[in-house]
Amino acid sequence: MGRFDVEKLRYLTREDFRVLTAIEMGMKNHELVPGVLIQRIAKLGSGGINKLIRDLCEKRLCSYERGKQYDGYRLTNLGYDFLALKVLTSRDHISGVGTQIGVGKESDIYLVRNSEEETLCMKLHRLGRISFRKLKEKRDYLCHRNNASWIYLSRLSAAKEFAFMQALYSYGFPVPKPVAQNRHIVIMSLVKGYPLNQITEVEDVGGLYSDLMELIVRLAAHGVIHSDFNEFNIMVGDDAKPILIDFPQMISISHTNAEWYFNRDVNCVRDFFRRRFGFDGEEYPTWKENVRREFNLDQEVMASGFSKDVETFDAECGVGEKQEEGEKDLEEGEGEGESEGEEEREELEFDEREELAAEQDENNEAEKKEENVVVNGMED
Ligand code: ADP
Ligand code: MG
Repeated sequence: MGRFDVEKLRYLTREDFRVLTAIEMGMKNHELVPGVLIQRIAKLGSGGINKLIRDLCEKRLCSYERGKQYDGYRLTNLGYDFLALKVLTSRDHISGVGTQIGVGKESDIYLVRNSEEETLCMKLHRLGRISFRKLKEKRDYLCHRNNASWIYLSRLSAAKEFAFMQALYSYGFPVPKPVAQNRHIVIMSLVKGYPLNQITEVEDVGGLYSDLMELIVRLAAHGVIHSDFNEFNIMVGDDAKPILIDFPQMISISHTNAEWYFNRDVNCVRDFFRRRFGFDGEEYPTWKENVRREFNLDQEVMASGFSKDVETFDAECGVGEKQEEGEKDLEEGEGEGESEGEEEREELEFDEREELAAEQDENNEAEKKEENVVVNGMED
């Protein structure tokens, strides 16, 4: 498995980050961000900005592309990673990135360290890199949306996961401890244990089975369904107790298809235990008899400030749509979205300006200790 080539972070200056941030902002309204627009957003003056951009392209943090109407730049995955890593390191959440420990279907997982020498877990959300098969038939759709929407979808996925993790953790659920989130990156505690799919022997199979069923019921009592409750998202700790991970697809028990998702989670566990341990789970919870709302964790998460975004995200990603129906997503999305090439639309939205200002402050502060903050020990 590859390592994160964060060596490059060491050499990035404040101006470099201003340029990358400007491209990120420009991508909100532009498929490709023209050089003049980068300059205008970054407010760096014309001298030398082209060289800055060129160097960043050479480091593969952004790329230059020819579009139908005009040429311009876009952020690469790596460029986006570095923007988030920069913030997470300057806020002292992490001090170094270590080995990659997993590649999920929509994520990369790394070990990271903080300044207390604790090892944590970093999840980079990467939406929009699969489904090429599906997207092939929808070329126009792909051309129109893909460049910017991966940023948007990955960021929302991370924000949603972090919000659920925080809420679950605060209610005492066995989940990783949420540490920080920026853009598409979530930092959380590292679970000591193994994913259930790697486990072939359990001392008390029946005990683990009922722990898992109780967990599903307890989640529902708090108003939520995990919706991907499978052996890859259940870790088993040294104490043989389950720890739940992976939350971007969680839904409320008030969702239209909630019962279907609840049953699927239950059946996932039953099927796995039958297959792996030859264990027949005759007792299992049902929607009718076992789902009683006692808390409103779902509503708390939705009220935490990004409910609209989450709804859009869920709609675009097909979260909460039954699988057969999920296939329709792309057709429905066709034709919508911003039209490109509207140069007038580049004023930044308020929150973005604030973010830029905040990051600048941080950069100023961090500048003094930049050398250590960003990179020391990144490679170990
Ligand atoms: P995806 O959404 O891509 O499935 P997951 O959150 O399920 O991503 O993580 C993928 C894999 O990474 C998991 O199956 C698990 O092996 C590992 N992993 C994820 N989070 C943690 C964690 N906090 N501690 C230890 N391992 C983790
Ligand atoms: Mg997973």
